[in-house]
Amino acid sequence: MRIHHLNCGTLCPNGARLVNGEGGLLEQGRVVCHCLLLETDDGLILLDTGFGTEDTRNPRQLGPVFALMRPRAEIGETALKQVEGFGFAASDVKQIVTTHLDPDHSGGLPDFPDAEVHIFGRELDAAMNPRLRDRPRYLGAHWKHHPKWVRHDTEGDDWFGFGGIRILPDLGTEVLLIPLAGHSLGHTGVAIKTGDGWLLHCGDAYFHHDELATPPSCPPGLRFFQNLNNADRRQRLTNQDRLRELVARHGEDVRLLCSHDPFELDRAQAASTAAAA
Ligand SMILES: [Zn+2]
Repeated sequence: MRIHHLNCGTLCPNGARLVNGEGGLLEQGRVVCHCLLLETDDGLILLDTGFGTEDTRNPRQLGPVFALMRPRAEIGETALKQVEGFGFAASDVKQIVTTHLDPDHSGGLPDFPDAEVHIFGRELDAAMNPRLRDRPRYLGAHWKHHPKWVRHDTEGDDWFGFGGIRILPDLGTEVLLIPLAGHSLGHTGVAIKTGDGWLLHCGDAYFHHDELATPPSCPPGLRFFQNLNNADRRQRLTNQDRLRELVARHGEDVRLLCSHDPFELDRAQAASTAAAA
């Protein structure tokens, strides 16, 4: 299996220091949408989809919160263009796995209408019938094409002490949804078994790599945004504690990454380039 680390959308909010923890207060920050493309013997698996083609044509559909975050909305950053850049077609993406359905994770769904879309049942319910306070966060335009949802509900598989759901039992690739609620009601991480240990894509369970350090820290702008936008703050913080514990106990066996940290993306892409050389 080959893993590509893709950036499927860049946001450039003001105040680099507040967002990235370095740079000037007047400099533009950099927030990425770190997605994974897995090349497997059973076809391509895309983990999260970032912003999609229609978002780049009409970024206003993303709403006022994203306008504040200043999305760059470049067609070349869409998962579709990058998949095509590797010489594949959209129809080669057989499976999509989603951490949750916020617009910066679901925008590419319409670009891959043939793919099965694997999702935790609680998140699917939260997005299809949102609570009043969650209505602004979910964007129906991203699923008006009626995706082939594959919902998963039962946490029957233990994974390093977390409840896991093995979602592709018939394929050769081991992929589990790891429920990590808090950011959204049904938010999950996604664990992938690689030839070199496990990779846990934590989605939006944390935003900055220093949140996994002991003691943890987070640039103030990101802390503010996470508190503003979480569906359940207590659960979010509890799950961050569990992730720190995972790093402390099993950091040798599991590598963690999240959706929006440019440092983690740059590091993963550099490691891939070095391994291919
Ligand atoms: Zn996000």
